[in-house]
Amino acid sequence: MRLDVVTIFPGYLDALDLSLVGKARRDGLLDLRVHDLRGWATDRHRTVDDTPFGGGAGMVMRPDVWGVALDDVLGLSADPSGAPDAPDAPGTPDARGADAPGAPDAGAAAHRRVLLVPTPSGDRFTQAMAEDLAAADQVVIACGRYEGIDARVAEHYRAEPGIEVHEISLGDYVLNGGEVAALVVVEAVARLLPGVIGNPESLVEESHGAAGLLEYPVYTKPPVWSGLEVPDVLASGHHGRVARWRRDQALARTAERRPDMLAALDPGALDRADLKVLAAHGWFVPAPRAPGTPVAPTRVRVRRATGADVAALAALAAATFPLACPPHMAPADVQAFIDTRLSERHFAAYVADDARYLVLVAEAAGELVGYTLLVLPREPGEPPYAPDVADAVGARPAAELSKCYVLPAYQGTGVAGVLLEATLDTARTLDVAGERLAVVWLGTNQGNRRAQRSYSRHGFTVVGTRRFRVGDSLEQDLVMARALHVADPTAQHDGGR
Ligand code: SAM
Repeated sequence: MRLDVVTIFPGYLDALDLSLVGKARRDGLLDLRVHDLRGWATDRHRTVDDTPFGGGAGMVMRPDVWGVALDDVLGLSADPSGAPDAPDAPGTPDARGADAPGAPDAGAAAHRRVLLVPTPSGDRFTQAMAEDLAAADQVVIACGRYEGIDARVAEHYRAEPGIEVHEISLGDYVLNGGEVAALVVVEAVARLLPGVIGNPESLVEESHGAAGLLEYPVYTKPPVWSGLEVPDVLASGHHGRVARWRRDQALARTAERRPDMLAALDPGALDRADLKVLAAHGWFVPAPRAPGTPVAPTRVRVRRATGADVAALAALAAATFPLACPPHMAPADVQAFIDTRLSERHFAAYVADDARYLVLVAEAAGELVGYTLLVLPREPGEPPYAPDVADAVGARPAAELSKCYVLPAYQGTGVAGVLLEATLDTARTLDVAGERLAVVWLGTNQGNRRAQRSYSRHGFTVVGTRRFRVGDSLEQDLVMARALHVADPTAQHDGGR
């Protein structure tokens, strides 16, 4: 591959003689040429800049000087050999690797040529761009100085057939010149060329690579340094466990430091263990809305509901409540329940009365995807409203987890568990007339084994049953309960009355 850097400070690029890039040049893996722009200036002072049209501070680099230089380097000149022969001009011993400028490789016209113009107003330079550039035949980097290069230069070469132009930025800060950007691009591209890195395996798991994750933390000897130990698993010699640990660390690190990268992950490439790590960091992969259209991981935040949520809460409740009803329940009865308990008016009342209700919501990309409704007793000793529940749940004060629902797309993703734990965590902080809540209980449909298993995983145990009437049908729920302040949550149901 051929890389050309055009600059008014060729010496700045001397560092490219060092290390792996220097070796790649010496081994002929990389044809890197550094050119002095002033070699193409025509006046006695070899001027490359002038005052800005429209006024203002600083100088702007002239398009005419850049034009002849880039035509030569890109092999577009009618007479490429007509390059200047100034003392520092390319082609002299002072210029790095310099051939006569403009001596394009034979057949260059058929090759992929890219002109890079570093500028703080360009697209952010990324690993993906480096990978793309590594597949080009020639990359020319035009290093600006002063206030930058006359805007017509990029415009002109964009219109030139066979030349790709990319204006690239290293980041949101301003450097004095494009040379540092050129060093960055050469380093990033050269190490991807075949043969440059001794062990190509070392490229595979790197940050910003195909996995789309940051790399896991790395360690070497000594095993204990400054009181800090290398994680045991890395010395276990167990390749499978090491690989899993590294993957977990990469996912966790990316979630903490670069959540934007998680949103770009291919959900099809995530296994169950990956999903667990992501869930622990608040990221979930919802089911596709249509077959074959996988949805990227989504950040789900759990928070207390506010008055602004009531319309969305009522819509969510109306969408989710029927899904958990037993199939024999008449649709009219289900709707009647929604109308009399889960309307906007009801949610407005629940959210407004935080002595009596706790409403938490799970929100993903601005949409409510789940909620819980906890009903607190009015006074510490108040028994649950149904006598069979009051008998089964001994401890007081006892709050009812009346609702815990998530949209179907988020069922089985772990969002319900996060909502439930957040509800229990908040419940632990609540008191009723100065007595802290002792137990949370719930009724769940006897046939809904999935819900029962899920509640069991969160420390709920079956303590009894309750019977209730919906319309014409007599229903029976399992009553499950969880003590809030004991080490063994199953100990709550002989809690004393
Ligand atoms: N006036 C320009 C602006 O505000 O956008 C800044 C010009 S800067 C002082 C001079 C040169 O440094 C630019 O032409 C470019 O080559 C280089 N440069 C500065 N910051 C850069 C960045 N963040 N990324 C890439 N190149 C940069």
